[in-house]
Amino acid sequence: SGRTRIFSGVKPTGHLTLGNYLGAVRGWVEEDQHRAEALFCVVDLHALTVDHDPARVRRLTRQAATLLLASGLDPEVCTVFVQSRVDEHARLSYLMECTASDGEMRRMIQYKEKTAREQARGGSVRLSLLTYPALMAADILAYGAHEVPVGEDQAQHVELTRDLAIRFNQRYGATFVVPRATVPKVAARVMDLQEPTSKMGKSHDRTAGIVYLLDEPEVVRKKVMRAVTDGGSEVVYDRAERPGLANLLDVLAACTGGDPERLAGGYDAYGALKKDVAEAVVETLRPVRERHAALAAEPGYVDEVLGRGAERARDMARPRVDAAYRAMGL
Ligand code: ADP
Repeated sequence: SGRTRIFSGVKPTGHLTLGNYLGAVRGWVEEDQHRAEALFCVVDLHALTVDHDPARVRRLTRQAATLLLASGLDPEVCTVFVQSRVDEHARLSYLMECTASDGEMRRMIQYKEKTAREQARGGSVRLSLLTYPALMAADILAYGAHEVPVGEDQAQHVELTRDLAIRFNQRYGATFVVPRATVPKVAARVMDLQEPTSKMGKSHDRTAGIVYLLDEPEVVRKKVMRAVTDGGSEVVYDRAERPGLANLLDVLAACTGGDPERLAGGYDAYGALKKDVAEAVVETLRPVRERHAALAAEPGYVDEVLGRGAERARDMARPRVDAAYRAMGL
């Protein structure tokens, strides 16, 4: 069909955060699912690239899927599914490993960061952490997605996906759509409230600076009120010099639809700003928490949605993945 296709996903490596929501999920719900043929995936294979507990991965996969629905993805207009239920991802990933070079994988910022973290803990690095972008490329290219709505931290992986699609098409004939990343204008990189120089990430160990989608209002308020702000007392928007403050302004802007720089002018003290940020976040998350409670009480419905989603995804992916196998000489 001539409709724009969109693909994106979340990893079940922890509880979904405000960063996931503002940087990605909210855009999928409010815009992407309505303007395009869209697929949203809980990418559980990606969760195996680091140490994990199998039962926890299974639980988090289900919770992430439930949260996507609770956030407002409508399975009547888009496709919601779990990656490992659709074999085409792993099948195509191998072809992507045969398309990519070792050097371009090693250049990925996320690989370097996670490798350094793992080695600092004295652990070993799984090979799949290096090849992760090949699987991610497969996730996107299998569906012929034109657009990939992601937070800023994933933009580099989508760039690599583009390179792989172009290279594959040149070597083996036109097979894949060359996709592009779309990143939100505000809150494309929500920072940790306690450590505003690193991003709010769901798999981080220290949780005091992370707002989870299912946090109770009182917990959200406490985390926001304790957010680290920077020296100085005036409220200005300066990402480089005042990252903590800029982060709070970004979150407020994303939750209320304002502009962070303009919002800064409306405050002369940190306390008042934090109070408004806390209430804006509580209100933004309230409907998600409420719908999550209703959906969690109806596991049969979530199963049914995921079953249907996997079937639809399989049907969409298979012809293109089969064509890629043939094109490469198999
Ligand atoms: P995480 O890093 O929390 O494990 P995922 O890799 O599952 O997140 O990413 C899911 C989506 O959420 C991606 O599009 C990613 O870019 C986005 N995202 C993750 N963290 C943030 C953040 N702190 N700010 C904005 N977007 C984010």
